[in-house]
Amino acid sequence: MSRQTLYRARYVLPISSSLVEDGAVLVESGFIRAVGHYHDLANTHPEAALVDFGESVLLPPMVNAHTHLELTAFSDWAAAAGEPHAPQAFVDWILWLVRIRREVDEDQLKASLAAGLKASLLEGTGAVGDIFTTLDAVETYLESPLSGQVFAEVLGHDLALIEERLSSIKSLSVKSPAKSLNWGLSPHAPYTLSASATDQVFAFAKEFTLRCTIHLAESESESEFLRDGTGAIADKLFSSAKWDPLLSPPLGCSPVRSLCSEGRLKEGDLIVHGVHVDTADIEMLKQSGCSVALCPRSNAALNVGKAPVTDYLNAGIPLALGTDSLASSDSLSIWDEMAFAAEWFTDAAEPCEWLEIATLGGAKALGIEKRVGQLAPGQEASFQVVTLPVLPQADALEETLCASGKDVNVTHLYLAGENVLL
Ligand SMILES: [Zn+2]
Repeated sequence: MSRQTLYRARYVLPISSSLVEDGAVLVESGFIRAVGHYHDLANTHPEAALVDFGESVLLPPMVNAHTHLELTAFSDWAAAAGEPHAPQAFVDWILWLVRIRREVDEDQLKASLAAGLKASLLEGTGAVGDIFTTLDAVETYLESPLSGQVFAEVLGHDLALIEERLSSIKSLSVKSPAKSLNWGLSPHAPYTLSASATDQVFAFAKEFTLRCTIHLAESESESEFLRDGTGAIADKLFSSAKWDPLLSPPLGCSPVRSLCSEGRLKEGDLIVHGVHVDTADIEMLKQSGCSVALCPRSNAALNVGKAPVTDYLNAGIPLALGTDSLASSDSLSIWDEMAFAAEWFTDAAEPCEWLEIATLGGAKALGIEKRVGQLAPGQEASFQVVTLPVLPQADALEETLCASGKDVNVTHLYLAGENVLL
């Protein structure tokens, strides 16, 4: 029989079941065998080795359902370009990002992606939904112990170029980016892909059973452009990208309807932001079976508005959290994102709901909830151990964890039984 280990902590927070004080997790061969009170598990498994984390909290790893790890060094690049400050308006911010990104070479991007993968682990993140544009940098993922999806990005209005891009992605997708990372596809947004290009990309995803993620309903500019064909996206973004000749007639509908009415979104797909939605949009999203990744710090930084979290929860739409990139957010920490969300969205969700959204919700959004996201028998032994300046009593633990952000100190991260912060 292979060796069993009991991991003990003052608090074990399984997410899918109740908090255990003086708890433990029994691990064997990289999988969780049992979760419960330390003394009960120690009595029934006297041969198990003990790792005692003492005055700490053991819980599932964070899931960053939407990020752009290749932009981790973005603030350095912006400073080097002499443009350290992000513009306030949404479209000006996109143009700023594109301008700075264009000056970065492949080696810089690889180093930035590697830094993002490492920083994620240090923040207690065990799974990501990462947007990936630089296909030649794929080997950077290879040794990463992270789970989740690498979403290869596609954008543009030239169908021949999109075909070429999809063909490159098809060649890459014969091999996973890393042991626990799978390929997905990211049509960038409804305003950076024409309707026919969008169809082409979603059809490809269906053919090769790739999950899709898309920035959707992020800003009022996007809604205006899709509805009327006017505004800053038409005036500034299209002329800058030289897409003017390819400008399609306005769709005359909301961003969500533009995808849902044609049946493009499928079960398991993940929309990102979902700020500018109405009741009919939420109903369509519910019918589509997709999840929503909230990125509140990014939305606040770009001043695009707040997602209707209460309406999503009432509709039963699965939610996740994402940091977005370091071009619009100041850390890759889901602990920081959750603390911001809990305050910004005031009473939209309880602390226990935010903790679930940050862990199991993210895992469901990425389709990996059978392996990661909760502490339960049969799950991979993936968990983080954290300390706080002062550990509260059990009845205040979830609220304190939810609000602590940068006060949370991640001391250990185990993924599939391996201590990855050694
Ligand atoms: Zn994004």
